[in-house]
Amino acid sequence: MTDAHRFRTKVHMPGKRPDVRVAVIGGGVIGLSIAWALAQDGCAVEIHDDQPGLGASHAAAGMLAPVCEAAYEEPELLALGLASVLAWPEFAARLTQASGVDVGLREQGALWVGFDTDDAIGLGRVADLLARHDLQHHRLSSREARALEPALSPRISSALQVPGDHSVDNRLVVRALFAAAERAGVRIHRQRVGLVTVDGRAVGVRRVDVGDLTSRMAPVHDADLVILAAGDGSAHVPGLPDCARYPVRPVKGQILRLAGAIGLMERTVRATVHGEKVYLVPRGNGELVVGATMEEVGADLTVTAGAAHHLLRTAIEVVPEVAELELVEALARCRPGTPDNGPLIGYTPLPGLLVATGHGRGGVLLAPTTSDALHRLVSDLPMSEVIEPFAPQRFSRSAHDVTEGIA
Ligand SMILES: Cc1cc2nc3c(=O)[nH]c(=O)nc-3n(C[C@H](O)[C@H](O)[C@H](O)COP(=O)(O)OP(=O)(O)OC[C@H]3O[C@@H](n4cnc5c(N)ncnc54)[C@H](O)[C@@H]3O)c2cc1C
Repeated sequence: MTDAHRFRTKVHMPGKRPDVRVAVIGGGVIGLSIAWALAQDGCAVEIHDDQPGLGASHAAAGMLAPVCEAAYEEPELLALGLASVLAWPEFAARLTQASGVDVGLREQGALWVGFDTDDAIGLGRVADLLARHDLQHHRLSSREARALEPALSPRISSALQVPGDHSVDNRLVVRALFAAAERAGVRIHRQRVGLVTVDGRAVGVRRVDVGDLTSRMAPVHDADLVILAAGDGSAHVPGLPDCARYPVRPVKGQILRLAGAIGLMERTVRATVHGEKVYLVPRGNGELVVGATMEEVGADLTVTAGAAHHLLRTAIEVVPEVAELELVEALARCRPGTPDNGPLIGYTPLPGLLVATGHGRGGVLLAPTTSDALHRLVSDLPMSEVIEPFAPQRFSRSAHDVTEGIA
């Protein structure tokens, strides 16, 4: 049995739930997928977000890549990622059926290529890690890699084929989730909100506007459960008590979108080019996504000339024809990072408040298993074993500081 089979989990199937009022703070891929799942359960769900769908979920490359993202010290995250990538085909099919939107799932696997000897040594280490976890991969000669992807530079010297990593078009996923959620009865309020607590319990949310002293007068959207899914802003939602203010930090990523690449590439290509990393992710509509930087600079959304130059120069080394494509977008957004790179999924010490955030580099990948986990929590069903290590309690403060807060 491979790791992949061992970690297979059952994805949420619609069932009947008594009417529970749920407020979701954040309308990214995580908040939307949870809202859709809970609405199918019969919950009355409202999403609150002043810019729904335009956070990190808008910028992502859409890679479903637990294998290539595997790290020695993160076996639980690998297990969760593998369960998620296996859940994606069914999730995508249900989403398409519910929304009428094809989310562009590509299941051709990925290639990782290197240029010089050091790059090849790095690829060898990746291969060793994958072998240790019994994850499918094949060392390829540069000729074999170019037979799979003829647009690759003749200067590549080493390659690894990873059949288990896939991709989706994350923007189509967000569009589909909007449609599916709204059809399932979810209401979307375009407003920034804070948490409202009474007597040490989350009881709803209310609108907040920076510098607006009248916010305290805004009406409360009452809820039996509030779900904190505010991405990289999750630690800064007004009204959160300290016990539910988790160490989620913004990790900036700059990424490019190019057009005119129809037929250029079939699968995701990751490359290490003289030690520098880049990935190229093709879409069915001829878009090519080139990413991405990882920057610890706080919540900064500036696109810099240096990052765009670096990404383009490296991508052109990997696939020379990239130089002929039209550059249509350069974007920066922040991933919700956590100290151990794992998401936070579960009940917080504040009664009535759940959290689903901190998905870092993998929120698109992890959406099916995260929404399934929230469905299980709300329905009081047993939790999947791959989710258990990601309970927020691992970062809880020792003292339960449940102060009364009003946003
Ligand atoms: C450059 C880049 C490339 C990436 N590539 C991939 C990839 O290939 N594969 C992958 O799986 N993941 C990838 N990721 C990571 C992925 O995008 C994130 O993990 C995922 O989008 C997180 O989803 P989210 O819903 O938690 O956050 P977001 O999409 O950021 O949504 C959070 C929402 O919360 C809202 N919000 C915040 N505060 C409040 C408030 N007080 N009130 C109301 N609303 C609020 C925001 O407006 C925002 O819309 C990438 C990220 C970046 C930046």
